[in-house]
Formats: sequence, C-alpha cells, structure tokens
Amino acid sequence: MNLSEKIISEIEKRKIKQSDLARLIGVDSTVVSSIIKGRRVGNLTISRLVKALGPEYEQYYEYQTCEICGKKFLPKNNRIKTCSVECSRLNVNKICAKWAKSNRSRNIAKDTDAQRFGWGAKVKGPAVSVAEYNSVARKEHGSYGQRGAAERLAQSGTMRESMGLG
Ligand SMILES: [Zn+2]
Repeated sequence: MNLSEKIISEIEKRKIKQSDLARLIGVDSTVVSSIIKGRRVGNLTISRLVKALGPEYEQYYEYQTCEICGKKFLPKNNRIKTCSVECSRLNVNKICAKWAKSNRSRNIAKDTDAQRFGWGAKVKGPAVSVAEYNSVARKEHGSYGQRGAAERLAQSGTMRESMGLG
C-alpha cells in the first residue's frame, strides 16, 4: 500500500474528513490532499504521521545513502547528502579538493561567496550546500567566515594539510 492509499483508507476507517485528518496530524489540509494525489512529502511530514497515526507510517520514511560511508540514514531534507558531521566534513573536503584542483590558477581571494560556493550561474564553485558548509565551519573553525578564510589559505598552500586537501 502506498502512502496515498494508506491515507485514503485512514480517512475511511476513521469516518472523518480530509481536513479533520489534517488537524489531527498537525498539517495544512493541502498537505493531506497532496499526499492523496501521490506527491512526495518530506521526512518531517512522515514523522508527524508516525506521531499522530502510529508506527505503521515509519515504512514511508525516505532513507538516503551517505555519499561518503554508504550508510543508510534519514535526511531532514533532500539537500543533506551525508549521514553525520564526520562524513559531511569528509565530503566538503573531497569536493573542495576536487574543486581546488580544477581551479588552481584562479585567484580564490578575489572570488565572491557566490563564486566560491556555486550560487552564481556564471562561475561554478564546489557543490557544497550552505547548511553543510556551516556545520563543518562550526566544527572546525568556529564560523562560516573563518572557514572561508582557512579555505583560501589552504588553496594558497599554507593550510593544505590541515584541511585534508593534501
Ligand atoms: Zn556517512
């Protein structure tokens, strides 16, 4: 039974309206109707279903495979690609190392954040999400800015080893 069918049967079983079920779950009624239409919902919504309707909804969690260690994990949102802070750090270093290698001749210090992190369409930066970048920055250097500074130093060669860019 897919989630859409499950929700339809839940409504029939309880003899309630879509809006009543939405209230019970604690979501907007548009969320319930989009589930019924078969649209994907995030793990956060699934966790609300589990809490309100029972553990049989745990089967609808969407697990992701960690890009670093291959372990299955439950991402809070679809931008998270790694299972832990440790794997996230390795992933950022891997992406930065790859990016540094292909951008060796560029003057990184002159780049804008958009260029460094790939927000701009013109200049492609490393594909690291801001959330992931921040979590690593906090762990390693205290702040986003300090991590950025460390990275620029690393790319100029002085902190290469400590950054794992070897
Ligand atoms: Zn992992």
